[in-house]
Amino acid sequence: MSKTHNLGFPRIGADRELKKAMEAFWQGKISQQELEQTGKQLRQRHWQLQADAGIDLIPVGDFSNYDQLLDMSCLLGVVPPRFNWDGEAISLATYFAMARGEQLNDKAVAACEMTKWFDTNYHYLVPEVHSKQTFKLSFNKLFDEIAEAQRAGFNSKAVIIGPLTWLWLAKIKGEDFNKLALLESLTAAYKNILLRLKQQNIEWVQIDEPILVLDLPEQWKKSFTSVYKQLQIADLNILLTTYFGELDDNLQLACQLPVAGLHIDLVRGSSQLEEVIQNLADNKILSLGIIDGRNIWRSDLDNILNTLNKVKDKLAERLWIAPSCSLLHVPVDLAQEHKLDSEIKNWLAFATQKLDELNTLNQAVNHGKENVAQQLELSRKAIQQRQQSTRIHHADVKKRVKAITNNMLARNKPFNERSEIQKQWLKLPAFPTTTIGSFPQTDTIRIARRAFKQGQLDKEEYTRQMKKEIFYVIKEQEKLGLDVLVHGEPERNDMVEYFGELLNGFAFTEKAWVQSYGSRCVKPPIIYGDISRPEAMTVEWSCFAQSCTAKPMKGMLTGPVTILNWSFVRDDQPRAATAMQIALALRDEVHDLEQAGIKIIQIDEAALREGLPLRKKDWQAYLDWTVRAFRLTASVAADETQIHTHMCYSEFNDIIQAIADMDADVITIETSRSDMELLDAFENFDYPNDIGPGVYDIHSPNVPSTQHIVQLMQKAAKRIPVARLWINPDCGLKTRQWPEVKQALACMVDSARQLRKAAG
Ligand code: GLN
Ligand code: ZN
Repeated sequence: MSKTHNLGFPRIGADRELKKAMEAFWQGKISQQELEQTGKQLRQRHWQLQADAGIDLIPVGDFSNYDQLLDMSCLLGVVPPRFNWDGEAISLATYFAMARGEQLNDKAVAACEMTKWFDTNYHYLVPEVHSKQTFKLSFNKLFDEIAEAQRAGFNSKAVIIGPLTWLWLAKIKGEDFNKLALLESLTAAYKNILLRLKQQNIEWVQIDEPILVLDLPEQWKKSFTSVYKQLQIADLNILLTTYFGELDDNLQLACQLPVAGLHIDLVRGSSQLEEVIQNLADNKILSLGIIDGRNIWRSDLDNILNTLNKVKDKLAERLWIAPSCSLLHVPVDLAQEHKLDSEIKNWLAFATQKLDELNTLNQAVNHGKENVAQQLELSRKAIQQRQQSTRIHHADVKKRVKAITNNMLARNKPFNERSEIQKQWLKLPAFPTTTIGSFPQTDTIRIARRAFKQGQLDKEEYTRQMKKEIFYVIKEQEKLGLDVLVHGEPERNDMVEYFGELLNGFAFTEKAWVQSYGSRCVKPPIIYGDISRPEAMTVEWSCFAQSCTAKPMKGMLTGPVTILNWSFVRDDQPRAATAMQIALALRDEVHDLEQAGIKIIQIDEAALREGLPLRKKDWQAYLDWTVRAFRLTASVAADETQIHTHMCYSEFNDIIQAIADMDADVITIETSRSDMELLDAFENFDYPNDIGPGVYDIHSPNVPSTQHIVQLMQKAAKRIPVARLWINPDCGLKTRQWPEVKQALACMVDSARQLRKAAG
C-alpha cells in the first residue's frame, strides 16, 4: 500500500486572509490576538482540506506569519544583534522587526536581507551568522502548531528546513570565517528540536535539504553524513526532502544518509528514479514527487500511473507519493476562478486540485484503476483536449519561429560604429542622465486604472487622464534637466501583466495569488498558447510622450525572458520555444516604435539573471537561448536606434559574457547598495558597450546627496571608461513618492553637471 503526503500548503489563504491580517496588524488595526486567530483558522482549514482530500500525512510547520526561513532562524535563536533581542522567547514584535526593519530610539534598524528561494519567485529572509554564533531554541511556533494539529486529530508530520540548507543560505556578518565551523553547535540545536518533537509523539519529521540539488563543495557534502548521523533518534523518522532539481552527483550521498526516507523531485528530475531505487537501502521509504508543485497544469495521470506501476511492486509499503515540492508556489484553489475561460480552466490544477490528483493516483495504485475510472477519464479528456486545442496552436506563429534566421539575431553594424551614428543625432553630453521607466504611481493613477478596468471610465476619458500624467512626468523631467526622458508608465499596473493582456496566448486569473514575500503576493499570468501580437501595444503612449518634448523619448518594453520568468509557462514545449514567440511579438513592437519615430527603446530584462538554472552545467544552455531571445527582439532596430536594456539583480560576474552578447547599446543596472562593488565584473571583463550603474537606491525612502552620487560615479569611472558611463537610478521609481523622487533626481542631474565640469 502506498501512502500520500504533502510537503507544504500555501498559507496565505484563498482570499489572501493572512496578507490582509498581517497588514492590518502592522497598521495597528487589529490586535496580535486577532492576527493569531486568523493564522489558526487558516491552519485548521488547510489541514482539514488536505485530510478531506485523502492525504495520509499532513504537513505541520509549513505555516508562517512571514517566512519559513525566518521561522527557522528564530527557532534556532539566531537574531542579528542590531535588534537588541533579550535572549528570551522571541516575540512577534522582534520577529516582524527582523522581517521589516524597525525604528529603535529614533534610529532605523535595517530589516534582514531578502533574496529568492532557489529559482522560485518566493523571497526568504536571509539568516545572519557571525563567527561566535550560538544556538538556543527560542521560538515555540513549531511545537505549538504540532500540538494544535494533534489536538484537532490530524495525522501530523513536522516540517523543518534542514541544518545544511539553513547554514548554506545564511550570510556571514562581521569577520569572515568558514560557516561549517558552526555545524557542531547547530547540529546540537537540531537534535534538541527533534527530541522535543519526539516528546510530542511525532513519528515523522520532514527535513528539507533542497541544497542537495545544487553543486556543493566537497566539505559540505561530507558534512551531510556526519550531521545526519548525529540526528538519529530512536523511533523518530526523518524524511529527507529534496526538490527543484535532480540529485545528480549528490545522489549516492542522499541515498546513503542514515535517515528513514528520501523524497525526490520527479517532475524536474524524472530520470533519477531508477538510480535512486538502486542505491536506496530496502528498508527506506521512497517518496516520489510526481505532481508539479511549481506550475498550474493538470497532471497527466495515465503517464504518472505508468511510472508508479513500474515501481510499486518493488517498493510496496515503502512507496509514498507527493507533489514535487511544497505547494507554496501555486495558487490555492481553481474553484474560485469564475471568469477564466472554461476550456482553459479545465486544463489547470491549483494546490487543492493537485491534492485530489494525488489521491486519485494513490487509489489507482492501491485499489486498481477501475476504482477511480471516472476521475481518470476526466483527466484524460482534459489532457487530450488541451493537446488538440486550436486555442493553443497557431500555424502562422510556429511558421514564423521556424523562419528565424541568424540575420535576424544581429544588428547591422557592430557597437562602435552604431555608437558613432547614434551620437550624431543624439548629441548627448558626457555622463548622460536618464531614468529606468516608471515614475511614482499615485493614487490618482491607480484609481483611474481600476475604474477603467471595471468599466466605470471609458477609454477616451481614461486615455485623457493617462496623457495628463504623462505630460506632467515629462515636464518634471525637463525641469530637472534630464537628458533622455521616459513617459513614466502610468498605464501599467505591472510590467508583465500589461504586455500579457495585449498579447494572444495569455490568460489571467482573478484570485490565483502566490506569495512572493511576507504579505506581498503576485498573480502571474498563464501562458497557455502560441503567442502573437494583434496590434501595437505601446506606440500610442510613446508617440504622445515624444510629441510633448524636444528631448529624446525612450520607448519602454518588457523583454521576452522577463515576461517568461514571471509567468506560469506552458509545459508542452520548451521554455526556449515560448521565449522565441514572445520575442517575435516584441520585435514587431520595436519595429513599430521605430517607424513611429521613437529612436531610443529600452527592453527590460529585469528577471534574466534570476532565472539562471541551479546547476552550473545548465547555465550555458539557458544563457544561449535567453540572449538569442533578446537579440531577436532588439536586432530589428536600425543602427541609429539606440537599444537600452535594464537588469535589476546585477551579480554579473558569472554571466558577463552573456550580458555583452546581448549587445544592447546601453545597459542600466542596480548597483548603488553594493557601493559599485558589483561593477567588479565589468572591470575584469572588458565590457564593450555603454553602462548606467544605478546611483539611487529606489528600495529606500532615503534621498542620496549630490556628493554621494559623485563619489559613486567616481568609483564607477575607475572600472569603466568615462565615455561609456550613464547616470541613472537603480530601477523604476513607481513605488516612491514624488517629493523624494524630485530631490533625488535633482541631485543626480547636479552630480552629472559636476562630473562634466571636472572632466572638462
Ligand atoms: N521599466 C520598469 C520600471 O521602471 C523596470 C522595472 C524593473 O526593472 N523591475 O518600472
Ligand atoms: Zn529594475
